[in-house]
Amino acid sequence: MKLETMAVHAGAEPDPATGAIAPPIHLSTTFEHGPATEILHGYTYVRDENPTQDRLEAALAQLECPRFKSSGEPPTLDRARGARVASGAPAAGQTANVKIEPPRQDAAEHARIETTGALAFASGMGAAAALFQMLEPGAHVIFPEDVYVHVRVLQRDYLPKWGIAASVVDTQSTEAVARAIRPETKLIWLETPSNPRMNITDIAAMAQTVRASKAPAALISVDNTFATPVLQRPLELGADVVLHSTTKYCSGHSDAQGGALVLKKKDELYDRLYHARLILGAVGSPFNSWLVLRGLRTLACRMERHSANALAVARALEQSKQVERVFYPGLESHPGHAIARKQMKGFGGMLSILVRGGWEEAVAVAAKVRLFRNATSLGGVESLIEHRASAEGPGSTSPKNLLRLTIGLEHPDDLIEDLMQALAG
Ligand code: PLP
Repeated sequence: MKLETMAVHAGAEPDPATGAIAPPIHLSTTFEHGPATEILHGYTYVRDENPTQDRLEAALAQLECPRFKSSGEPPTLDRARGARVASGAPAAGQTANVKIEPPRQDAAEHARIETTGALAFASGMGAAAALFQMLEPGAHVIFPEDVYVHVRVLQRDYLPKWGIAASVVDTQSTEAVARAIRPETKLIWLETPSNPRMNITDIAAMAQTVRASKAPAALISVDNTFATPVLQRPLELGADVVLHSTTKYCSGHSDAQGGALVLKKKDELYDRLYHARLILGAVGSPFNSWLVLRGLRTLACRMERHSANALAVARALEQSKQVERVFYPGLESHPGHAIARKQMKGFGGMLSILVRGGWEEAVAVAAKVRLFRNATSLGGVESLIEHRASAEGPGSTSPKNLLRLTIGLEHPDDLIEDLMQALAG
């Protein structure tokens, strides 16, 4: 099945109770169980999991790794999932040898989508933090030089407290990463395209490098927020984990916050991440899950239009004398263009420019736009502009004259006209 079709149908089975085509939002925080906590309908408590979030996870997993298929197997009563334990040690609140009721019809549907490997979180940072919490003290992590600012802050402010060492490396170079890998390297964190410089990392080459290194089992995680599964599928290129801030393109309308981790399968790492989400609590709300799920339905169309618009804007900006440099992987002048062509189906809606001059000149351009809004975040239908050094604050590694543009779904001619008048001063 093609991704465009999957985006429309994944996690969209009609509601078994009513036949509703639009999925219901299950706001209930708690679900009826038996007198000894027997699971009757597949769910217990909203922080464990809930039906709306399950649909979102099924959709994300299928989009990131289309080889995931509903198995049609009977419910897999999962080791890590508290009250779902079918045999062995009793879970909290259960009595040993208690008989668990056979699942009902609606629980069977729920179990069908249990074969997926996605976990939804309250935010992209919630998802990122869960992954770092998988590491033991003494572990070593490799980070890219250009990376979303709060990941850098997490690395700076939290990893030392957790006894985790970090190296910051230009991940555009596999040689640089190979040199930085140590036997205790447990995680290679990649972000491609990167925020805000739009650096491109060759995911397949990186996977080969890591597998042939001193730490062949190190996890490779890719922040796929900018590309989305429509344009890039890191799990198929050798990555182990994909991260999303679903706040961005996946939801697509600047009105929902969420994050996700997607794994190839429900393995031991999945169980541990599930446990971290349950116990540490970075769980999204059912309403936000529903909004993100709805956003996924139009993701393929939106990414196509974002990409076409961004390429048109990037080409126009390349011609401006007030622009020193345009960072957009769709331009032949971008150093990562060939790799981006190879591993992406389109180049996305994000781009950055260096305005000729410095801090003041860049801020002056941001002050003069009329159609673009000055705001942070990205991936919505509307175009935004941001002076990243101001937004990132002290410790920012963004050039002082860099403006990040998130190109929306407006007509590109209007966007270009607005930018040109702002650049004209
Ligand atoms: N990753 C990237 C590339 C981002 O741009 C962001 C936020 O801007 C995040 C992760 C964090 O996501 P959230 O804001 O949903 O926590």
